[in-house]
Amino acid sequence: MNEFSIIDKYFSWNTDSSIKVGVGDDSAVIEIESGYQIVTSVDTLIEGVHFSADTCAADIAYKSLAVNLSDLAAMGALPRYFTLALSMPQINESWLHEFSISLKSLALDYHINLVGGDTTKGPLSVTINVTGLIENGKAMLRSSANAGDSVFVSNTIGDAAYAWKQIKSNKACGIGALNRLNRPEPRVHLGRNLVGIASSCIDISDGLEQDLSHILHSSNVGAIIDIDCLPLSVEVRDYVQMTGDWCVALAGGDDYELCFSVGKGQKKKLNELQKGLGIKLTEVGIITPKKGLVVSGFSTKCKSYKHF
Ligand code: ADP
Ligand code: MG
Repeated sequence: MNEFSIIDKYFSWNTDSSIKVGVGDDSAVIEIESGYQIVTSVDTLIEGVHFSADTCAADIAYKSLAVNLSDLAAMGALPRYFTLALSMPQINESWLHEFSISLKSLALDYHINLVGGDTTKGPLSVTINVTGLIENGKAMLRSSANAGDSVFVSNTIGDAAYAWKQIKSNKACGIGALNRLNRPEPRVHLGRNLVGIASSCIDISDGLEQDLSHILHSSNVGAIIDIDCLPLSVEVRDYVQMTGDWCVALAGGDDYELCFSVGKGQKKKLNELQKGLGIKLTEVGIITPKKGLVVSGFSTKCKSYKHF
C-alpha cells in the first residue's frame, strides 16, 4: 500500500454538486453560491500535545474535525468543505480504517465534504482546514461586544479539563466527562442560530478566562463574571467543591462550548432559542466599559494553556 492507495481507499468519499474537482487533482475546485462569504480556519492535533499515544484512531479523527467545526460554529458559519493533512509514522490499515470511518461519520453528520489533503510519513499529527459559508457580512466576530451586553456560555464547562486531570493522576472519572474530552460536540447549530442575536462570539478552547479575554481585548471593553454562575456538571461541581480547584472550569480548556455576548434587546430571542434548541445557555456576567476581566468571588490566578 502506498499514499495513493491510502487516499483512494480511506479518503475519497465525496458527493456534492458544488465540488467541481475534489480529491485527485492538484487542488480542489469549488463553486460558491452568491451572497455568501468564505469562512476558513485550520487546527493541528499532535500526539503528545493534544492527545496521548494511547488515544484510539476514532477519537483522534473525531476530535480533529470537531475542534475545527467549533471554530466555524463560533463565527456562525455553515460548514461545507475540509482538507486533511495526515502525517503518520507507518501504514497501519486497521488504524486507518478506524480513523476514516470516524472522520466520515462526523463529516456526514455536519454535511461537510472532504475535498483534498496531504499524506506524509512522520510523527503522528492531523491538520484539518475547514471552510464554511456565511451570509455576506453576518459573521460573528470577537470585536463587536458592547458595554452592557450580557455574557453567556453554552452547556457546561470544565468537564474535559477535569477528565484530563483525573486520567493524568490515574483516578476514575465518569463517562460523561470522558466523552466531553474525547468527543466534544461542535456547537454548529447553536452558532448558526446566534447570528443576528449575539454581538460577539468565541469558542472556548483554551479556557473561559483566556477566550473571553480575547473578546474583551478585540472589543476594547472589560467584563465582570460571577464564579457562582459558571455552568458546571454535577461531577465537576462536586470536584470543585471538594478541592477548590475552580481553574478547571475557568482555565482548563478543551470545552468547545460557545461564549458570546448579547445585548438587552436580544435576550427574549435568546430565551426562545434556548427552549427551541434544548441547550442550556447560562448568563455568567456582563460586559463593562472598564477594561480587564474581573472574576467576582475568586481571586486566584489560573494558568491557561499556552503553546509557547
Ligand atoms: P500533490 O503532490 O499534487 O500535492 P498529492 O499526491 O499530495 O498531490 O495528493 C493527491 C490528491 O489526493 C490531491 O487531490 C490531494 O488533495 C488528495 N489527498 C492527499 N492526501 C489526502 C488525504 N489525507 N485526505 C484527502 N485527500 C488527500
Ligand atoms: Mg501533496
